[in-house]
Amino acid sequence: MNGEYERLRRAARDLIETDRVLAGETLAPGAQLPEMSAPASRPERPARTPAPAKSSAPGPAAPAGGGRAGRQRVPPVKLKGPSDEARRKQAELEAIDTGEVRGCTKCGLCRGRTHTVFGEGRPDADVFFIGEGPGEEEDRQGRPFVGRAGELLSKMIAAMGLTRADVYIGNVVKCRPPNNRAPSAEEAQACWDYLLRQLRIIAPKVIVTMGNPATHALLNTTVGITRLRGQWQSLPMLDADLAGIKVMPTFHPAFVLRSYTADNRGKVWSDLQEVMRELGLKKA
Ligand code: SF4
Repeated sequence: MNGEYERLRRAARDLIETDRVLAGETLAPGAQLPEMSAPASRPERPARTPAPAKSSAPGPAAPAGGGRAGRQRVPPVKLKGPSDEARRKQAELEAIDTGEVRGCTKCGLCRGRTHTVFGEGRPDADVFFIGEGPGEEEDRQGRPFVGRAGELLSKMIAAMGLTRADVYIGNVVKCRPPNNRAPSAEEAQACWDYLLRQLRIIAPKVIVTMGNPATHALLNTTVGITRLRGQWQSLPMLDADLAGIKVMPTFHPAFVLRSYTADNRGKVWSDLQEVMRELGLKKA
């Protein structure tokens, strides 16, 4: 009984603290990634009373600002749908997902999966968050980052002033490793071509690698995340399409939940602020 009470008390405390740290430090209202979010439409203003025609005859003084009354009204901004380019990218991503990944047996992880987890989000996103592989809940739903770590990731994204629909979220491997272990180098290698093609199609400006396995796979390094996090890295020259993409390694949200210290949360927030500066979401 005491153990259950303690578990619930800790979970409640975690949620409250997460809200304080991440949701409490949002961008100034109105700041947006360039071309990432459709502009909000403005509320209709009441129609203006047409200004009286100019006359040399004396009359009542013109109202303040009345000189603009004769101008053409600017129509309200319309929400833009996805561009042709975004639709093309989405179709290419779906073709890989449904035509190849869902039936893939290139490594042993296929034997334990319920669903493959290809990735989701904006097909022309400026930022691509990459974790190591699906967990239990992701495997059940076939969607990335939908468990507790996913909730924290959603809060991290919201703290940046974005939504999950503004970014792309995926993993190094598309099938769940047993017992949530990290994928092996062989499994990551077997799945690498899918991630590479996702990167080519989406062509993000920035990749955020979360945790050691994703950072090691993307940067082709064995240096630990504790040393790499918070410092901009360059994607190794995989091909010309991916030249210039910057990589920001940070802690995996599951690690932050496990080691829930103000220090770790502050470090992740600092890394995300670097990404925001790079994308023009916040002045340096
Ligand atoms: Fe195929 Fe990747 Fe799943 Fe392995 S993890 S079976 S390579 S989709």
